[in-house]
Amino acid sequence: MSHSHTAPLKRLAVLSVHTSPLAPLGSRYAGGMNVYLRELILELDRRGIQVDAFTRGVHQPPFTALPMGQRSQVIYVDMGPGKGLSTDELVSRLPRFSAQVLEHVQRTGADYDALFSHYWLSGLAGLCLRGELGRPLYHMFHTLGRVKNLALPPTASPDERASPRRIAAEQAIVLEVDGLVASTEQEKRELLTLYQADPAKIAVIPPGVNTAQFHPTDPVQARDRLGLPRSWRIALFVGRIQQIKGIDVLLFAFDRLRRHSEAPEDLHLLCLGGDKPGSPRMSPEQRRLMELASRLDLEDSVHFLGAKDQASLLDFYNAADVVVLPSRAESFGLVALEAMACGTPVVASRTGGLPSIVSDGVNGFLCPVGDEECLATQMGRILGNPELREWLGENALERARRQSWPRVSNCIVRLLSGELLADQRRSPAPRDEPCVSRD
Ligand code: UDP
Repeated sequence: MSHSHTAPLKRLAVLSVHTSPLAPLGSRYAGGMNVYLRELILELDRRGIQVDAFTRGVHQPPFTALPMGQRSQVIYVDMGPGKGLSTDELVSRLPRFSAQVLEHVQRTGADYDALFSHYWLSGLAGLCLRGELGRPLYHMFHTLGRVKNLALPPTASPDERASPRRIAAEQAIVLEVDGLVASTEQEKRELLTLYQADPAKIAVIPPGVNTAQFHPTDPVQARDRLGLPRSWRIALFVGRIQQIKGIDVLLFAFDRLRRHSEAPEDLHLLCLGGDKPGSPRMSPEQRRLMELASRLDLEDSVHFLGAKDQASLLDFYNAADVVVLPSRAESFGLVALEAMACGTPVVASRTGGLPSIVSDGVNGFLCPVGDEECLATQMGRILGNPELREWLGENALERARRQSWPRVSNCIVRLLSGELLADQRRSPAPRDEPCVSRD
């Protein structure tokens, strides 16, 4: 049953079952989606829309509400005990999640104009709640199980793979929801070809970047603040430490770059995300990568620094000469946009959303997935040529500024109030022209 209709958006329920919009970033389950939700909720709130974001609480008493902005809140729902449960383990507890959201609605009289769910788990809860509340459900996957599995090497552990249960759930969500947000034309194609989605239900709306938070600053001062030597030539990786991010390929590329360099001692690679070395919580993937770095004799030049508070990333992006994203798959790649908003060029693999932000030879470079030689060459070009770096960086800045949150949220509001898909049905958006670039 479809609940699509056009109605002004005043009150919105966001569903984010397994991870909170307020979670600390860089750990296994907190990355781009958390940032996306936080920024979107704050922006909608600034526009006068009241958002209730429901998420699983572990330490908080049930229905604890933390304010966001002027009128919005994150509401913690009790799904039973257990820290660090996998998303598959949480499925059986979804009825409990939905029942509590309904309890909140009944108790407070909250009347939502629409539901907006994120990631497949929340999509399942959304389908149940849509039936109960009779309001349209919009969904954003952030990552798709089938795409992830196609991108992982055959050796990937079952832990890294998307389960059949997840894929079946994604399929059901695609068929049932009122509207889907794809971050890129590429994701739209994946929804069409791998999940047989109805094109009339898909809006392509890329995420935004907070340009007040990420902007160019003096790189020398940024290094001084971080205690990084001025003489270093710095490549930077930022993200969750997972196999899908391709950090192993980056280590091989960096090794190659050093072997071909006249001053290898100046070359340094910083990896932000995961845990500090030595921490007992360190994931097997991070252990594997650190072992690889030491096998390649890179212990003095590759620095695993653990996850950093997002506020401190401004200095890291500005201190770096180049940011490298060697992902095997990447639904969007917020880190690329953040680095570019600081005027730092990006070398990225040509996958997922990355080519929609990085233009090869214009504001950075693109390499085929897994191509360590290309990564080494393009990092080397930027690190060895400050003028090229500056020129690419200026173009990167210009590109990132086109994707600020106020512009992106215009599209989201149009979608959630039913306008965007109705307009699209009347005059289909030209290919490769997502909502934001028409504003
Ligand atoms: N991030 C952070 N600290 C870290 C690592 C990552 O704040 O140590 C943030 C980063 O700023 C970005 C997000 O986490 O906004 C990662 O998003 P991205 O889309 O690049 O990757 P995802 O996690 O969605 O795969």
